[in-house]
Formats: sequence, structure tokens, C-alpha cells
Amino acid sequence: MSEPSSLGESAPSGESAPLGESAPRDHFDVAIVGAGPGGMTAAIYSSRARLDTVVLERNTAGGIMQVTERVENYPGFPEGITGFELAEKMKQQAAQFGAELREITGVLALELQPNGDWRIVTDEGAVTARVVILSPGVEARKLGVPGEAEFMGRGVSYCATCDGPLYRGKEVVVIGGGNAAVEEGMFLARFAAAVHVVHRRDELRATRIAQERAFAQPNMRFIWNGQVRRIVGETKVEAVDYEDLLDHSQHTLPVSGVFFYVGQLPNTGFLRGVVELDAGGYIVTDAHLRTSQPGMFACGDARAGLIKQIANAVGEGALAAIEAEKYLVARDFEARQASAGAPGAGASGAQAKFVTPGAAPADDAATGG
Ligand code: NAP
Repeated sequence: MSEPSSLGESAPSGESAPLGESAPRDHFDVAIVGAGPGGMTAAIYSSRARLDTVVLERNTAGGIMQVTERVENYPGFPEGITGFELAEKMKQQAAQFGAELREITGVLALELQPNGDWRIVTDEGAVTARVVILSPGVEARKLGVPGEAEFMGRGVSYCATCDGPLYRGKEVVVIGGGNAAVEEGMFLARFAAAVHVVHRRDELRATRIAQERAFAQPNMRFIWNGQVRRIVGETKVEAVDYEDLLDHSQHTLPVSGVFFYVGQLPNTGFLRGVVELDAGGYIVTDAHLRTSQPGMFACGDARAGLIKQIANAVGEGALAAIEAEKYLVARDFEARQASAGAPGAGASGAQAKFVTPGAAPADDAATGG
């Protein structure tokens, strides 16, 4: 194995390395797609296990966690920590064991090679890896109302942490009733004169502790049974039109900003036709986090799991890396057996445990759903 460069220090694989520096590597033991908490934990574990590891990420490390204003339920930080800071710490920890973070624009293709390795084609060139861990994360769901796309960046936002300070002394609307809507709404309440939460029911989905805090916040107001129908403005957001879903009356609320928190969608478009996805587009795995493809594991929010929490993604990242390592050991053992001409070699090895897309995993129930 060659000595890996540190996170963030390597040239993208598509660029030639500066004179005097070694050329970017194009083969790894482990390639991790996505640098959220799941992907970064997998990188920490696999690089610490002395596996040559690359993390391919199209944004900055941290995934959706990175734009979470305050994380209070991740163990070890009793006073809370910003999502950005936690992402930075995970990145440093992976770097210290030698993992390389490579920024890409996107994954274009994932191809299984005849020798069992994967070839990952990105906008910045291709790498091969003996095993792939998918951790592409999720992105904010769009509501799809008129004005949402038009006023993006001119009053419409999906990130309170990024844009909240722009609304100092102004009135904003938050759409949604989950943890993200309530917690990010609380963050906005630090700057805005008023935060109006428009929720389609008369009860929040957010946890009790988040609700209690939000209800105690003097400049946070709740519009129950409301559905935003339109964003209104000339060149920037000036108001939202919403409907009272009980009596169907129409209302206009003058605001300068609209923050959408109506759920998340998995970043798995590039995996369609490659690996088994469930009806919602989440990656189906067995209990060992093996996907329907050999040498391909998945972890984090884009996996078809029951809860979407940083602590959970971290646990899955650790498991995916440990399972990936076991898979490589089994694969090497099989290869040695085969080259030694052992009878039956290859018939019961690592690859035989995997299933083809659409079929149920052989020895574990799929955990998708
Ligand atoms: P979420 O929990 O799925 O909540 C989405 C909210 O948007 C719900 O209140 C939902 O209403 C509403 N909604 C969905 N579609 C809508 C539509 N078409 N029109 C109007 N409203 C709509 O999503 P999230 O808040 O982004 O959280 C995603 C995941 O991350 C969750 O598992 C959450 O627990 C987790 N998370 C955890 C924390 C934490 O633990 N501190 C913080 C943030 C996020 P209904 O309630 O009526 O369905």
C-alpha cells in the first residue's frame, strides 16, 4: 500500500500533480462515497485498520449535519456542538489515520470489474477500489410551490445556519413541523423579529424537548393546519400565500424569508440500476450493511434504516467499515486458495454471500423500510 496523503491536501484525480509531488493515486482498498457522519466514521475505521482509503465528496465534509446549527444529542458533547465543528473534527480524525478526502462534482458510474474491484467514474476522473462504502446522505425535499425555485437565494432557503443572519430584524416563515423545522426555526429566532412556523397539522412531529423550547420562544409563532401555496414578490420574497386547511380560507403573510423543512430525499439518483433501492430511493442492505452488489456496503441517512440520527449514522459507518474489512480478508483468502488450487475454492467465499439486485439477501433479512 502506498502512503496516503492527508485529507484535503491531494489534487483531484483529474488534475495533474504539481512538479515534485507524486501523482494522484487511482487505486484504493476502500472508496467511500459521501463524507457525512457515516462516511467519515467508515473512513476513520478503515484507515485506522491500515486500509488505503479515499472519501469522495461533492460538497464539504459533513453532509446535512454540516448545516445543522447545534447538535445536542451526540454523545460526548454535553454542552452541544455545531454541526460544522463536529464535521471538522471527524474530518481531522480520518485524516490523522491517513484517509484521503477527494472533492468531486458527482459520481457518474460505478462499474464492477472482472477482478471484483469497483471502478468509480467521477467528473474528475476515475478511481478503482477493492470495496465501496456508499454513504451519499440526503438532501432537503422541495415543496414544489410556485415561487420556490424562482426566489431561491432571494428569500427562499433550505439552510437556516447559512442564511439566518441575513434576516436580522425581519420576519420569516418556516414550513414544516419536524425536528429540522423546529430546531432551525429556533436558530432563526435569534435574528428574526418573528418566525412563523406553518405546519399542515395541529401537532408537531418534532421531539417533545424541541417543542417545549419552541413554544417558550416569544418571537416564534405557529400557524396550524396551514399549507403554503405560493411565494410572492417582485424581485425577492415579499410574502407567502397560505391556505387554512380546515376552512380553506386563503391568507397572505408578509415575510422576507421562507425556510423549507418538509423532509429529506436520499442522494441516490446515481445508484439507480446499480444497486437495489427501496420505493423511496433508499439503499437496501442486510444487517451486515451489505448491499445487493458484491463488495459494496451502505451506511447513513441514505440507507433504508429506521431512524435518521448522527449517532446512528456513526454506528453504521463503523459497522460498514468492519464488514468491508472482513470481506477483503475473505476475498484475499479465497484468492490464495484458488491460486493454490484448493478444491472448492471460490464456491463459498465472500462473493457467494451476496445477492443480485432485487433478490433477498441470502442469510439476513433486508432491513429496508
Ligand atoms: P421529517 O421529520 O420528515 O419532518 C418533515 C415535516 O415536513 C413534517 O412535519 C411533515 O408534516 C412536513 N411535510 C412533509 N411534506 C409536506 C408537504 N408536502 N407539505 C407540508 N408539510 C410537509 O423531516 P426533518 O425534520 O427534515 O427530519 C429528517 C430526519 O432527521 C428525521 O428523522 C428527524 O428526526 C431527523 N432530525 C433529527 C434531529 C435531532 O434529533 N435533533 C434534528 C433534525 C433532524 P407531517 O408531520 O404532517 O408529516
